[in-house]
Amino acid sequence: MEKGLHERDRVGLQDFLLLENYQSEEAFIDNLRKRFQGDLIYTYIGQVLISVNPYKELPIYTEDDIKEYRRRHFFEAPPHIFAISDNAYRSLMEENRSQCILISGESGSGKTEASKKVLQFIAAASGHISTVEGVKDKLLQSNPVLEAFGNAKTNRNDNSSRFGKYMDVQFGFTGAPQGGNILNYLLEKSRVIHQSAGERNFHIFYQMLAGASDELLRDLQLKRNLDCYYYLSDGANGCVSRINDSDNFRTVKRAMSIIELSDREQKEIFEIVASILHMGNIGFTENEGVAQILKPESVSAVTKLLGCDQAQLEAALTNRTIDAQGDVVTSPLSREMAIYARDALAKAVYDRLFSWLVVRINESLQPPNKLRSNAVMGILDIYGFEIFKKNSFEQFCINFCNEKLQQLFIELTLKQEQEEYQREGIEWVPVEYFDNKVICNLIEEKYKGIISMLDEECLRPGDPTDMTFLEKMNDQLGYHEHYICHSKASTAVQKTMGRDDFRLVHYAGDVTYNVNGFLDKNNDLLFRDLKETMSMTKNSITRKCFPEAEYLNKKRPDTAVTQFRNSLNNLMDILMCKEPSYIRCIKPNDIQSPNIFDDKLVSHQVKYLGLMENLRVRRAGFAYRRTYDMFLQRYKCLSKNTWPHFDGPSKEGVQILVNELGFDHDDYRMGHTKIFIRFPKTLFDTEDAFQA
Ligand code: ATP
Ligand code: MG
Repeated sequence: MEKGLHERDRVGLQDFLLLENYQSEEAFIDNLRKRFQGDLIYTYIGQVLISVNPYKELPIYTEDDIKEYRRRHFFEAPPHIFAISDNAYRSLMEENRSQCILISGESGSGKTEASKKVLQFIAAASGHISTVEGVKDKLLQSNPVLEAFGNAKTNRNDNSSRFGKYMDVQFGFTGAPQGGNILNYLLEKSRVIHQSAGERNFHIFYQMLAGASDELLRDLQLKRNLDCYYYLSDGANGCVSRINDSDNFRTVKRAMSIIELSDREQKEIFEIVASILHMGNIGFTENEGVAQILKPESVSAVTKLLGCDQAQLEAALTNRTIDAQGDVVTSPLSREMAIYARDALAKAVYDRLFSWLVVRINESLQPPNKLRSNAVMGILDIYGFEIFKKNSFEQFCINFCNEKLQQLFIELTLKQEQEEYQREGIEWVPVEYFDNKVICNLIEEKYKGIISMLDEECLRPGDPTDMTFLEKMNDQLGYHEHYICHSKASTAVQKTMGRDDFRLVHYAGDVTYNVNGFLDKNNDLLFRDLKETMSMTKNSITRKCFPEAEYLNKKRPDTAVTQFRNSLNNLMDILMCKEPSYIRCIKPNDIQSPNIFDDKLVSHQVKYLGLMENLRVRRAGFAYRRTYDMFLQRYKCLSKNTWPHFDGPSKEGVQILVNELGFDHDDYRMGHTKIFIRFPKTLFDTEDAFQA
C-alpha cells in the first residue's frame, strides 16, 4: 500500500515550495495543469492544500485510503485532503487543541465536496471507538437535508450552496465525535421568488413535486407539473437530466428521519414548502389604486396548509398597519405593494424555515452534558468571492465576508509563522504582503464605513433612496484608494460603470456594484400584518418562526447587513482561537468538464486566492522544518556516521548529517527543537533518490 500511494502520485511537484521558479505564475499553473491531467488534484503550498475540482469520481477516497493516511505523518504521504484532516485530528487529539478547517474557492470549485470528505475522514478515523449512539450518522446526514433546502442549480454549479455554513464537531476524550453544532449564514432567499435564466429555485421544491407520493401531493394540494407554479417558472429549467429529484427526495426523507425529525415535523415542513408555492400563485389586480386578490383559491390553500384564517390573510396581503407612537393606522396597498408584501412573506417564511431546520438539527446533534469536551474541529464552507456582470447587495455581503476571511488568513498564518521562529530562537525578517485591513475598515468602520452609511440612510427620516445613499458614499469616500465613484473614475473605467454604480478595489480584484435595491434589501421589511398572521398559525413551525414578541416589539430589528456583520464578527472570534488548516479550491473550467484545464480561469483564481503571495511568504522563511528526532530517523541512512544508530542527542546527529550533505549556513537554521531548511529542494532530491 505504501508503494501504491507514492506510485500514483508521480507527476509534477507535490509541494509548490519545491518550485524553483517560484515567482512565476506560469510555472505555478504548469504544475497544477500537469497534475490535473494526471488525475492528481491535490498539491501543497507547505501546509495549505490546493484542490482542483476533477469533475469526475476518483478512486482515492476509500476506507483503505483513510487507513493509510491515519498511519502516516503529514509529509510522509502524497498531498491529500485526508492528510490535512489527519493532521488536524492528530493535533486535536494529541495536544487537545481546537482546530478549524477553512475551505475557500469560487462557486463550483469543490468546497462542499471537500467539507464532506473531511467529515467522512473524521467519522471513519475514530473507527469503532464507542461513541454516542448514531452521532456520526447524524453528522453525515445533516448534509442532504441542508443541501435540499439551501442548495440550488445555478449556471455555475448544479448543486450550489446558497448559504454559508460553519460546523463544529465535538470530540470526546476517546477521539470519537460526540456531537456537533452548525451555524448558518445569509441564505440567498431572493431565489425563492426569482431565478435567473437557466437556474432553479432551491432543490426541495423540485424534489417534493417529483418524489412525493400521490397522497402527500393531494394533501398539499399540489400538482406534479412544475409549470403550475409561478415561483418555479422564471429559470425555465425545472427538469435537469443530471439531477434525479425523485431519488433525492427519498434520500432527504431518510436523512430527515436519521436526524430525528418526527413524522409530524416532516409533514409540517412539507406544508410550509407547499404553502410557498401557493403564495407565488396569488395574483393581484388593482381597483382605484387598491390591490385586490385574483386567485382566492391559492390564498385558501395557504391558509389550509399553515392553519390560519382566510379573511385575516387576505387582509394582511392587501393592507398595511402602521403603529406610530400609539396611533394605529391601516391603509390599503397598491397592486405593486401587495406583490412586494407577498414576495416578502414567501422569502421570510422560507428563510426562517431554513434557520429553524438548523436549530432543530443542532438539537439532535447535542452531546449529553457529561460527555462534552472542549476540543472541537470546525469546518467552514462559505461562499467564495463573487464577481458577476451585475453585482448587488448579496455580492457586497459575500465579498465583505471574503475580505474578513483573508484578514484572518493573514493574521493566523503570518502570526503562526512568526511565533514558531520566535519559539525556536531563530531570527527572521518579516516579508511584505498586502494587508487588506484597509478594505475591511472601508466597509465596516464605525460611522465612516459603508455599512454605517447604509444603515444610516435606511433609518433616516425623509425620503432616502438608493441614489441618496450612493451620493453620500461618493461624497465621503471618494478620496479612498479602494473606493471608485463614477464621476472621479478615469475615462476608461467610467465606460464600464453606470451612474448608479460604485466600485470597490477588493484584495481579489475590482468589483462594480449596482446600488439599486441596497436600501430595500437591507431594510428587509415584512409588514406587521403578515408577521401577526403568521404568529397565529396552527402550523407549529411557522408559529415558532414568527414569535408574537417580534411584531409587538416597536424597536426596529437590526438591518440585514448589520446582522450579517455581527454574525461574521462572531465567526471570526470562533475561528481566531483555533488552529487553522486551509483548503483552497480551484475550478478548472466553466463547463463542469473533467477534461478541460482553462489556464485563464485558473490564473484568475490563483490571483484572487492569493496563492503566489502565499508561496512567496512561505519561501521567504524556512519552508521545511522537522523535529531533530524525526529528521534523524528519516535521513540517518545518508551518512555512515549516523547509520544505523546515532547514540548522542538527535540535534548533534542532524548537525553531522547537514555538514556531510554540504548545506550552506544560509540554507538552514538549527532551532531549539527543530531544523529549518530554506529551500528543501536539495533535501527532497536526496529523498527521491533514496526512495527510488
Ligand atoms: P458553491 O460555492 O456553488 O456551493 P462548491 O465550491 O461548494 O460550490 P461543490 O458543490 O463542492 O462546489 O462541487 C461542485 C461539483 O463538482 C460537485 O457536485 C461534484 O460533481 C464535483 N466535485 C467537486 N469536488 C469533487 C471531488 N473531489 N471529486 C469528484 N467530484 C467533485
Ligand atoms: Mg457548496
